[in-house]
Amino acid sequence: MKPPVFEYERPDSLRAALDSLTRHGSKAKLLAGGYSLIPMLNLRLIKPGRLIDVSRLAELQYIVEEFGQLRIGALTTHNTILRSSAIAANCPIMVEAYRHVANHSIRNRGSTKLLPAQRTSGSSAVATSAKIGRKTSAVTL
Ligand SMILES: Cc1cc2nc3c(=O)[nH]c(=O)nc-3n(C[C@H](O)[C@H](O)[C@H](O)COP(=O)(O)OP(=O)(O)OC[C@H]3O[C@@H](n4cnc5c(N)ncnc54)[C@H](O)[C@@H]3O)c2cc1C
Repeated sequence: MKPPVFEYERPDSLRAALDSLTRHGSKAKLLAGGYSLIPMLNLRLIKPGRLIDVSRLAELQYIVEEFGQLRIGALTTHNTILRSSAIAANCPIMVEAYRHVANHSIRNRGSTKLLPAQRTSGSSAVATSAKIGRKTSAVTL
């Protein structure tokens, strides 16, 4: 199957992505690694009028340890989590869990958002908000 026709844009900042999301509302879908979204498009399970490609936004790719919490940006890839010394030191079970997510090439591009692997990581709290810029996982240590 081929995807339905859609417009495509790749904003160069989080601000621009948020503006576009506000402008286009529910007609737009965010594109990160594409491993879930592209198959859904190809099977025509969804028909967004526009894809906003956020995959290169560095502002959403981070792992920060502060105030007794690990904060993980929504676009942090699975392999970045696997290689993170902060996560290995503070939440080793998460590293163990991520070893079992898909395969190496998918882990290289696939972004975390809030995957079951994180949910079963034994963390005492996992929080997220629905907004693109705030889709941050907070793991309380
Ligand atoms: C063969 C295969 C095996 C897999 N195995 C596993 C597994 O064992 N365990 C596991 O947990 N996962 C698995 N996955 C999922 C994979 O690891 C990706 O995490 C998943 O596809 C979503 O990440 P993505 O970056 O590709 O997102 P995309 O496909 O680009 O997007 C998915 C959804 O998230 C939305 N989105 C994207 N970025 C943001 C953002 N910044 N803020 C808000 N919404 C956003 C999109 O609009 C879309 O609706 C597998 C995938 C494949 C293809």
